[in-house]
Amino acid sequence: MITWIRGGDLVDPVNETVEQLDVVVEKGKISKMLPPGVFQGNGSGIKRVEASGKMVIPGLVDMHVHLREPGHEYKETIASGARAAAAGGYTAIACMPNTVPPNDCRAVTEFILEQAERARSVRVYPIAAISKGQDGETLTDFGELREAGAVGLSDDGFPVVNSELMRRALEYASFYGLRVISHCEDRSLSGDGVMHEGGISTRIGLAGIPDASEDIMVYREIALARLTGRHVHIAHVSTAASVDLIRRAKEDGIRVTAETAPHYFTLDHRRVIGYDTLAKVNPPLRTPEDVEAIKTGLREGVIDAIATDHAPHSSLEKDLEFDRAAFGMIGLQTALPLTLQLVRDGVLGLAQAIGKLSWAGATALGIPGGRLMEGGSADLAIIDLNYEYPLETDRILSKSKNSPFIGQVLKGITELTMVGGKIVWEKA
Ligand SMILES: [Zn+2]
Ligand SMILES: [Zn+2]
Repeated sequence: MITWIRGGDLVDPVNETVEQLDVVVEKGKISKMLPPGVFQGNGSGIKRVEASGKMVIPGLVDMHVHLREPGHEYKETIASGARAAAAGGYTAIACMPNTVPPNDCRAVTEFILEQAERARSVRVYPIAAISKGQDGETLTDFGELREAGAVGLSDDGFPVVNSELMRRALEYASFYGLRVISHCEDRSLSGDGVMHEGGISTRIGLAGIPDASEDIMVYREIALARLTGRHVHIAHVSTAASVDLIRRAKEDGIRVTAETAPHYFTLDHRRVIGYDTLAKVNPPLRTPEDVEAIKTGLREGVIDAIATDHAPHSSLEKDLEFDRAAFGMIGLQTALPLTLQLVRDGVLGLAQAIGKLSWAGATALGIPGGRLMEGGSADLAIIDLNYEYPLETDRILSKSKNSPFIGQVLKGITELTMVGGKIVWEKA
Protein backbone atom coordinates (compact mmCIF):
# COMPACT_ATOMS: atom_id res chain seq x y z
CA MET A 1 0.00 0.00 0.00
CA ILE A 2 1.28 3.41 -1.03
CA THR A 3 -0.09 6.69 0.32
CA TRP A 4 0.33 9.69 -1.92
CA ILE A 5 -0.09 13.04 -0.17
CA ARG A 6 -0.64 15.45 -3.01
CA GLY A 7 -0.03 19.15 -3.41
CA GLY A 8 0.56 20.20 0.19
CA ASP A 9 3.01 22.84 1.36
CA LEU A 10 5.70 20.94 3.21
CA VAL A 11 7.12 22.65 6.27
CA ASP A 12 10.78 21.89 7.04
CA PRO A 13 11.61 23.29 10.48
CA VAL A 14 15.31 22.42 10.21
CA ASN A 15 16.00 24.43 7.07
CA GLU A 16 13.10 26.78 7.88
CA THR A 17 11.50 26.37 4.46
CA VAL A 18 7.96 25.91 3.19
CA GLU A 19 7.82 24.26 -0.23
CA GLN A 20 5.11 22.56 -2.27
CA LEU A 21 6.00 18.87 -2.39
CA ASP A 22 4.18 15.57 -2.85
CA VAL A 23 4.94 13.02 -0.17
CA VAL A 24 4.89 9.32 -1.01
CA VAL A 25 4.60 6.91 1.91
CA GLU A 26 5.51 3.27 1.58
CA LYS A 27 5.92 0.63 4.29
CA GLY A 28 5.67 3.22 7.05
CA LYS A 29 8.41 5.41 5.63
CA ILE A 30 8.60 8.45 3.38
CA SER A 31 9.90 6.99 0.13
CA LYS A 32 9.79 10.20 -1.92
CA MET A 33 9.35 13.93 -1.59
CA LEU A 34 8.85 15.38 -5.07
CA PRO A 35 7.63 18.57 -6.74
CA PRO A 36 3.98 18.25 -7.81
CA GLY A 37 3.47 16.56 -11.18
CA VAL A 38 6.54 14.35 -10.97
CA PHE A 39 5.06 11.36 -9.18
CA GLN A 40 2.35 9.64 -11.24
CA GLY A 41 0.62 7.04 -9.13
CA ASN A 42 -2.26 5.03 -10.52
CA GLY A 43 -3.92 1.78 -9.63
CA SER A 44 -5.64 0.20 -6.69
CA GLY A 45 -2.62 0.00 -4.41
CA ILE A 46 -2.43 3.76 -4.06
CA LYS A 47 -4.35 5.86 -1.57
CA ARG A 48 -4.48 9.53 -2.48
CA VAL A 49 -4.67 12.19 0.16
CA GLU A 50 -5.39 15.64 -1.24
CA ALA A 51 -3.44 18.29 0.65
CA SER A 52 -3.52 21.30 -1.67
CA GLY A 53 -3.99 24.51 0.24
CA LYS A 54 -2.89 22.68 3.41
CA MET A 55 0.42 22.38 5.24
CA VAL A 56 2.18 19.04 5.58
CA ILE A 57 4.23 19.20 8.76
CA PRO A 58 6.42 16.82 10.73
CA GLY A 59 4.30 15.26 13.46
CA LEU A 60 4.47 17.44 16.55
CA VAL A 61 6.56 16.22 19.47
CA ASP A 62 5.47 17.17 22.98
CA MET A 63 8.23 16.62 25.50
CA HIS A 64 6.03 17.40 28.51
CA VAL A 65 2.59 15.87 29.12
CA HIS A 66 0.87 14.33 32.09
CA LEU A 67 -1.01 11.12 31.45
CA ARG A 68 -2.78 10.02 34.61
CA GLU A 69 -2.32 6.29 34.20
CA PRO A 70 -1.50 4.45 36.41
CA GLY A 71 -3.55 5.75 39.30
CA HIS A 72 -5.94 8.45 38.10
CA GLU A 73 -7.51 6.93 35.01
CA TYR A 74 -10.70 8.95 35.58
CA LYS A 75 -8.69 12.05 34.55
CA GLU A 76 -6.81 10.59 31.59
CA THR A 77 -5.51 7.27 30.38
CA ILE A 78 -2.53 6.63 28.18
CA ALA A 79 -5.01 5.78 25.40
CA SER A 80 -7.18 8.90 25.84
CA GLY A 81 -4.14 11.17 26.11
CA ALA A 82 -2.62 9.61 23.00
CA ARG A 83 -5.89 10.13 21.11
CA ALA A 84 -6.05 13.80 22.14
CA ALA A 85 -2.42 14.16 21.06
CA ALA A 86 -3.14 12.68 17.63
CA ALA A 87 -6.07 15.08 17.19
CA GLY A 88 -3.72 17.93 18.10
CA GLY A 89 -1.21 17.00 15.37
CA TYR A 90 1.22 15.20 17.67
CA THR A 91 2.91 11.97 16.70
CA ALA A 92 5.05 11.65 19.84
CA ILE A 93 4.55 12.64 23.45
CA ALA A 94 6.72 12.23 26.53
CA CYS A 95 4.87 11.58 29.76
CA MET A 96 5.92 12.81 33.17
CA PRO A 97 6.36 10.36 36.05
CA ASN A 98 4.00 11.83 38.67
CA THR A 99 1.47 9.03 38.39
CA VAL A 100 0.26 6.79 41.23
CA PRO A 101 2.55 5.01 41.79
CA PRO A 102 5.15 7.30 40.23
CA ASN A 103 7.25 6.02 37.34
CA ASP A 104 10.38 5.35 39.38
CA CYS A 105 11.06 1.72 38.40
CA ARG A 106 11.17 -0.69 35.50
CA ALA A 107 7.66 -2.10 36.11
CA VAL A 108 5.91 1.27 35.69
CA THR A 109 7.98 2.28 32.65
CA GLU A 110 7.19 -1.05 30.99
CA PHE A 111 3.49 -0.74 31.90
CA ILE A 112 3.31 2.69 30.20
CA LEU A 113 4.95 1.34 27.05
CA GLU A 114 2.59 -1.66 26.99
CA GLN A 115 -0.48 0.57 27.34
CA ALA A 116 0.84 2.88 24.62
CA GLU A 117 1.40 -0.10 22.31
CA ARG A 118 -2.15 -1.27 22.97
CA ALA A 119 -3.56 2.22 22.22
CA ARG A 120 -2.08 2.02 18.67
CA SER A 121 -1.92 5.78 18.40
CA VAL A 122 0.98 8.20 18.84
CA ARG A 123 4.41 7.23 20.15
CA VAL A 124 4.68 7.54 23.92
CA TYR A 125 8.07 8.12 25.55
CA PRO A 126 8.18 7.64 29.33
CA ILE A 127 10.10 10.08 31.47
CA ALA A 128 11.07 8.45 34.74
CA ALA A 129 11.52 10.01 38.16
CA ILE A 130 14.88 11.39 39.29
CA SER A 131 14.30 10.27 42.87
CA LYS A 132 12.51 7.25 44.28
CA GLY A 133 8.91 8.13 45.06
CA GLN A 134 9.75 11.63 43.77
CA ASP A 135 10.66 12.41 47.38
CA GLY A 136 13.97 14.05 46.53
CA GLU A 137 16.07 11.74 48.70
CA THR A 138 17.44 8.77 46.76
CA LEU A 139 18.21 8.56 43.05
CA THR A 140 16.28 5.99 41.01
CA ASP A 141 18.16 3.28 39.09
CA PHE A 142 18.93 5.19 35.90
CA GLY A 143 20.45 2.19 34.10
CA GLU A 144 17.42 0.02 34.75
CA LEU A 145 15.03 2.79 33.68
CA ARG A 146 16.95 3.44 30.48
CA GLU A 147 16.92 -0.26 29.67
CA ALA A 148 13.15 -0.37 30.30
CA GLY A 149 12.62 2.45 27.79
CA ALA A 150 12.70 5.74 29.69
CA VAL A 151 14.16 8.63 27.65
CA GLY A 152 14.49 11.25 30.34
CA LEU A 153 14.35 11.97 34.03
CA SER A 154 12.31 14.49 35.97
CA ASP A 155 10.62 14.86 39.33
CA ASP A 156 8.16 17.19 37.58
CA GLY A 157 5.41 18.30 39.89
CA PHE A 158 8.12 18.69 42.49
CA PRO A 159 11.47 20.47 42.51
CA VAL A 160 14.61 18.54 43.40
CA VAL A 161 15.41 20.52 46.54
CA ASN A 162 18.76 18.92 47.32
CA SER A 163 21.43 20.49 45.08
CA GLU A 164 23.89 17.65 45.64
CA LEU A 165 21.27 15.13 44.51
CA MET A 166 20.58 17.21 41.38
CA ARG A 167 24.30 17.42 40.67
CA ARG A 168 24.61 13.65 40.82
CA ALA A 169 21.47 13.26 38.72
CA LEU A 170 23.02 15.37 35.94
CA GLU A 171 26.25 13.37 36.06
CA TYR A 172 24.70 9.89 36.11
CA ALA A 173 21.97 10.77 33.61
CA SER A 174 24.47 11.79 30.94
CA PHE A 175 26.33 8.50 31.49
CA TYR A 176 23.10 6.67 30.62
CA GLY A 177 22.12 9.00 27.78
CA LEU A 178 19.10 10.31 29.67
CA ARG A 179 17.96 13.96 29.65
CA VAL A 180 17.24 15.69 32.94
CA ILE A 181 14.21 17.99 32.99
CA SER A 182 13.88 20.40 35.89
CA HIS A 183 10.66 21.69 37.43
CA CYS A 184 12.05 24.95 38.79
CA GLU A 185 10.29 26.00 41.97
CA ASP A 186 11.55 27.05 45.38
CA ARG A 187 8.75 25.74 47.57
CA SER A 188 9.89 27.81 50.54
CA LEU A 189 8.92 30.84 48.43
CA SER A 190 5.88 29.51 46.56
CA GLY A 191 4.45 28.03 49.76
CA ASP A 192 0.67 28.15 49.74
CA GLY A 193 0.59 30.54 46.77
CA VAL A 194 -2.06 29.91 44.14
CA MET A 195 -1.35 32.63 41.55
CA HIS A 196 1.38 35.08 40.53
CA GLU A 197 2.39 37.37 43.38
CA GLY A 198 1.79 40.95 42.33
CA GLY A 199 -0.74 43.76 42.26
CA ILE A 200 -3.58 41.50 41.21
CA SER A 201 -3.01 38.82 43.86
CA THR A 202 -3.06 41.57 46.50
CA ARG A 203 -6.21 43.13 45.07
CA ILE A 204 -8.23 39.92 44.79
CA GLY A 205 -6.87 38.46 48.00
CA LEU A 206 -5.15 35.30 46.84
CA ALA A 207 -1.79 34.07 48.14
CA GLY A 208 0.97 34.74 45.61
CA ILE A 209 3.86 32.80 44.08
CA PRO A 210 6.70 35.27 43.41
CA ASP A 211 8.63 34.98 40.16
CA ALA A 212 11.79 34.53 42.24
CA SER A 213 10.47 31.09 43.19
CA GLU A 214 11.20 30.04 39.61
CA ASP A 215 14.22 32.25 38.89
CA ILE A 216 16.24 30.98 41.85
CA MET A 217 15.96 27.37 40.73
CA VAL A 218 16.66 28.22 37.09
CA TYR A 219 19.86 29.87 38.25
CA ARG A 220 20.77 26.85 40.38
CA GLU A 221 20.25 24.44 37.47
CA ILE A 222 22.43 26.64 35.25
CA ALA A 223 25.11 26.70 37.96
CA LEU A 224 24.97 22.90 38.21
CA ALA A 225 25.11 22.51 34.42
CA ARG A 226 28.21 24.73 34.45
CA LEU A 227 29.76 22.80 37.33
CA THR A 228 29.17 19.38 35.79
CA GLY A 229 29.45 20.28 32.11
CA ARG A 230 26.24 18.29 31.62
CA HIS A 231 22.97 19.18 29.91
CA VAL A 232 19.92 20.39 31.79
CA HIS A 233 16.48 21.16 30.41
CA ILE A 234 14.27 23.77 32.08
CA ALA A 235 10.55 22.98 32.00
CA HIS A 236 7.68 25.48 31.60
CA VAL A 237 9.57 28.81 31.65
CA SER A 238 7.15 31.54 32.79
CA THR A 239 9.21 34.58 33.86
CA ALA A 240 11.20 37.32 32.13
CA ALA A 241 14.08 36.77 34.57
CA SER A 242 14.29 33.07 33.66
CA VAL A 243 14.52 34.02 29.99
CA ASP A 244 17.41 36.39 30.81
CA LEU A 245 19.24 33.76 32.86
CA ILE A 246 18.91 31.15 30.11
CA ARG A 247 19.98 33.66 27.45
CA ARG A 248 23.18 34.47 29.36
CA ALA A 249 23.86 30.81 30.10
CA LYS A 250 23.59 29.95 26.41
CA GLU A 251 25.90 32.84 25.52
CA ASP A 252 28.38 31.38 28.01
CA GLY A 253 28.21 28.00 26.27
CA ILE A 254 26.43 26.22 29.11
CA ARG A 255 24.42 23.21 27.99
CA VAL A 256 20.90 24.32 28.78
CA THR A 257 17.68 24.00 26.82
CA ALA A 258 14.25 25.27 27.76
CA GLU A 259 10.60 24.99 26.97
CA THR A 260 7.55 27.11 27.62
CA ALA A 261 3.87 26.28 27.24
CA PRO A 262 1.26 28.09 25.10
CA HIS A 263 -0.57 29.51 28.12
CA TYR A 264 2.56 31.44 29.16
CA PHE A 265 2.61 33.36 25.88
CA THR A 266 -1.17 33.63 25.52
CA LEU A 267 -2.57 34.49 28.96
CA ASP A 268 -1.45 36.62 31.89
CA HIS A 269 -2.44 36.95 35.54
CA ARG A 270 -5.39 39.21 34.73
CA ARG A 271 -7.12 36.01 33.59
CA VAL A 272 -7.37 34.98 37.26
CA ILE A 273 -9.41 38.04 38.30
CA GLY A 274 -12.73 36.16 38.01
CA TYR A 275 -11.32 33.31 40.17
CA ASP A 276 -11.60 30.92 37.22
CA THR A 277 -9.81 27.79 38.40
CA LEU A 278 -9.19 26.76 34.77
CA ALA A 279 -6.53 29.49 34.76
CA LYS A 280 -4.78 28.03 37.84
CA VAL A 281 -1.47 26.54 36.74
CA ASN A 282 1.96 25.99 38.22
CA PRO A 283 4.05 28.01 37.53
CA PRO A 284 1.26 30.60 37.53
CA LEU A 285 0.22 32.91 34.70
CA ARG A 286 2.55 35.91 35.03
CA THR A 287 2.42 39.58 34.02
CA PRO A 288 2.01 41.02 30.50
CA GLU A 289 5.74 41.95 30.65
CA ASP A 290 6.63 38.31 31.32
CA VAL A 291 4.42 37.25 28.39
CA GLU A 292 6.34 39.63 26.11
CA ALA A 293 9.67 38.30 27.38
CA ILE A 294 8.56 34.71 26.68
CA LYS A 295 7.66 35.67 23.11
CA THR A 296 11.03 37.39 22.64
CA GLY A 297 12.75 34.33 24.14
CA LEU A 298 10.98 32.09 21.63
CA ARG A 299 11.82 34.33 18.69
CA GLU A 300 15.48 34.59 19.65
CA GLY A 301 15.86 30.87 20.30
CA VAL A 302 16.50 31.32 24.03
CA ILE A 303 13.45 29.15 24.61
CA ASP A 304 13.93 26.16 22.36
CA ALA A 305 10.66 24.31 22.49
CA ILE A 306 6.95 24.72 23.06
CA ALA A 307 5.56 21.89 25.20
CA THR A 308 2.02 21.71 26.54
CA ASP A 309 2.44 20.63 30.17
CA HIS A 310 -0.92 18.98 29.43
CA ALA A 311 -2.33 18.42 32.93
CA PRO A 312 -5.78 16.82 32.96
CA HIS A 313 -8.00 17.23 36.04
CA SER A 314 -11.67 16.32 36.43
CA SER A 315 -14.31 18.75 37.71
CA LEU A 316 -13.79 17.11 41.13
CA GLU A 317 -10.42 18.86 41.36
CA LYS A 318 -11.38 22.05 39.50
CA ASP A 319 -14.93 22.97 40.61
CA LEU A 320 -13.68 24.22 43.95
CA GLU A 321 -12.68 27.49 45.60
CA PHE A 322 -9.64 28.90 43.82
CA ASP A 323 -7.19 28.14 46.61
CA ARG A 324 -8.37 24.51 46.92
CA ALA A 325 -8.46 23.68 43.20
CA ALA A 326 -5.69 21.67 41.52
CA PHE A 327 -3.03 23.34 39.37
CA GLY A 328 -2.98 22.55 35.66
CA MET A 329 -4.74 22.76 32.30
CA ILE A 330 -4.98 20.47 29.29
CA GLY A 331 -3.22 21.57 26.13
CA LEU A 332 -2.75 18.89 23.48
CA GLN A 333 -5.50 20.15 21.16
CA THR A 334 -4.89 23.87 21.64
CA ALA A 335 -1.08 24.13 21.37
CA LEU A 336 -1.04 24.26 17.58
CA PRO A 337 -3.71 26.98 17.09
CA LEU A 338 -2.30 29.06 19.97
CA THR A 339 1.21 28.82 18.52
CA LEU A 340 -0.08 29.73 15.06
CA GLN A 341 -1.36 32.96 16.61
CA LEU A 342 2.32 33.88 17.18
CA VAL A 343 2.85 33.42 13.43
CA ARG A 344 -0.10 35.67 12.59
CA ASP A 345 1.23 38.24 15.08
CA GLY A 346 4.64 38.20 13.38
CA VAL A 347 6.48 36.83 16.44
CA LEU A 348 7.60 33.60 14.73
CA GLY A 349 7.87 32.42 11.14
CA LEU A 350 5.68 29.43 10.25
CA ALA A 351 8.55 26.96 9.91
CA GLN A 352 10.10 28.32 13.11
CA ALA A 353 6.80 27.89 15.00
CA ILE A 354 6.32 24.32 13.75
CA GLY A 355 9.94 23.63 14.70
CA LYS A 356 9.30 24.74 18.29
CA LEU A 357 6.44 22.24 18.44
CA SER A 358 8.31 19.36 16.81
CA TRP A 359 12.03 19.33 16.03
CA ALA A 360 13.08 21.35 19.08
CA GLY A 361 11.34 19.04 21.56
CA ALA A 362 12.67 15.93 19.86
CA THR A 363 16.19 17.35 19.92
CA ALA A 364 16.06 18.55 23.51
CA LEU A 365 14.85 15.11 24.59
CA GLY A 366 17.14 13.17 22.25
CA ILE A 367 14.36 11.22 20.56
CA PRO A 368 13.70 10.69 16.85
CA GLY A 369 11.17 12.73 14.90
CA GLY A 370 10.39 16.35 14.29
CA ARG A 371 11.44 16.50 10.64
CA LEU A 372 10.43 14.93 7.34
CA MET A 373 12.92 13.31 5.02
CA GLU A 374 13.14 10.58 2.42
CA GLY A 375 13.84 7.30 4.19
CA GLY A 376 12.54 8.64 7.48
CA SER A 377 9.50 7.38 9.34
CA ALA A 378 6.19 8.76 8.04
CA ASP A 379 5.24 10.63 11.22
CA LEU A 380 3.41 13.67 9.92
CA ALA A 381 0.32 15.82 10.10
CA ILE A 382 -1.73 17.79 7.60
CA ILE A 383 -2.96 21.08 8.97
CA ASP A 384 -5.34 23.78 7.76
CA LEU A 385 -4.03 27.16 8.90
CA ASN A 386 -7.26 29.00 8.11
CA TYR A 387 -9.91 26.77 9.68
CA GLU A 388 -11.74 28.69 12.44
CA TYR A 389 -13.87 27.05 15.10
CA PRO A 390 -15.02 27.62 18.64
CA LEU A 391 -13.37 25.20 21.07
CA GLU A 392 -16.25 23.14 22.40
CA THR A 393 -16.01 20.36 24.97
CA ASP A 394 -17.27 17.71 22.55
CA ARG A 395 -14.22 18.42 20.38
CA ILE A 396 -11.89 17.66 23.31
CA LEU A 397 -10.72 14.06 23.29
CA SER A 398 -9.01 14.17 26.69
CA LYS A 399 -11.06 12.64 29.46
CA SER A 400 -10.70 15.96 31.28
CA LYS A 401 -12.03 19.25 29.91
CA ASN A 402 -10.02 21.69 32.04
CA SER A 403 -9.17 24.25 29.38
CA PRO A 404 -9.59 28.01 29.84
CA PHE A 405 -9.86 28.24 26.04
CA ILE A 406 -13.26 26.51 25.87
CA GLY A 407 -15.67 28.83 24.07
CA GLN A 408 -12.86 30.76 22.40
CA VAL A 409 -12.59 30.82 18.62
CA LEU A 410 -9.37 29.11 17.53
CA LYS A 411 -7.75 29.26 14.12
CA GLY A 412 -5.79 26.35 12.67
CA ILE A 413 -6.60 22.66 12.95
CA THR A 414 -5.15 19.22 12.32
CA GLU A 415 -6.88 17.44 9.47
CA LEU A 416 -4.92 14.20 9.56
CA THR A 417 -2.20 12.64 11.68
CA MET A 418 -0.05 9.73 10.55
CA VAL A 419 2.37 7.69 12.66
CA GLY A 420 4.68 5.26 10.89
CA GLY A 421 2.53 5.54 7.76
CA LYS A 422 -0.67 4.65 9.61
CA ILE A 423 -3.44 7.24 9.90
CA VAL A 424 -4.15 7.64 13.62
CA TRP A 425 -6.51 10.60 13.37
CA GLU A 426 -8.61 12.22 10.70
CA LYS A 427 -10.92 15.21 11.11
CA ALA A 428 -14.53 14.31 10.37
ZN1 LIG B 1 6.33 21.17 36.46
ZN1 LIG C 1 4.35 19.26 34.22
